[in-house]
Amino acid sequence: LQNAVMKSEKIEVVSHLAASVSHEVRNPLTVTRGFLQMLKDPSIPEEKRQFYLDTAIDELDRAEVIIKEYLRFSKPHHDLASNLTVKYEIEKALELLQPYANHFSVKVKHQLEDGLFVNGEASKFQQCLLNIMKNCIEAMPNGGELLIESHRSSEDKVIILIKDTGIGMSAREIAKLGEPYYSTKKEKGTGLGMMVVFNILNEMGGSLDISSKVQRGTVFSLTLPHSRNS
Ligand code: ADP
Ligand code: MG
Repeated sequence: LQNAVMKSEKIEVVSHLAASVSHEVRNPLTVTRGFLQMLKDPSIPEEKRQFYLDTAIDELDRAEVIIKEYLRFSKPHHDLASNLTVKYEIEKALELLQPYANHFSVKVKHQLEDGLFVNGEASKFQQCLLNIMKNCIEAMPNGGELLIESHRSSEDKVIILIKDTGIGMSAREIAKLGEPYYSTKKEKGTGLGMMVVFNILNEMGGSLDISSKVQRGTVFSLTLPHSRNS
């Protein structure tokens, strides 16, 4: 119960935050604009020119990451909720992430049951899966295994397990998941990914359990109402 209360608090913060994400994107754009402005000066030394260019590119990359983690979630035109085939949506998300997994030498495995459906907006469900799996891959900088399983529970729930063999988290770190801007990745993180995950799962009537062992890995367990394919 306490967990549920905590999560609903987080979700409230989320709705306040939705509008301010545009502000998050504006920062790197402002910085980039400033550097481009300075580059107009023909007298600046080559060294400085390189630095300005590199910084401008880094800032644009950062803006792109923020948009990617938030894009579908914040887009004004929502898809209609419909019955989604769990296997298909997971396979689609995995396809998108495969190059990223390759880059980190992460081996991806899956064991997906047929005939599982959940109700929701496809793009949001995708976003939710992507944000979790992306974190899992990033938790394995020296390679490892990402395993996705899905099945139906005896209580007629759809269970999706996403497991990594990465750096893991302490209980304290787990408690912080979903807090806006909580990130341990310095300038590489936005701290928005898990917040979006909680928000989407809440909207879909689902929940998320996380168990983790430091230096061993993490298991994300998504529980969603099973929807009949009517
Ligand atoms: P970001 O990925 O931008 O840092 P997220 O909201 O996606 O923001 O994640 C917040 C933090 O949660 C991460 O910085 C990381 O410390 C931790 N985290 C999330 N997923 C995992 C995971 N699979 N293994 C270890 N730590 C994780
Ligand atoms: Mg993330």
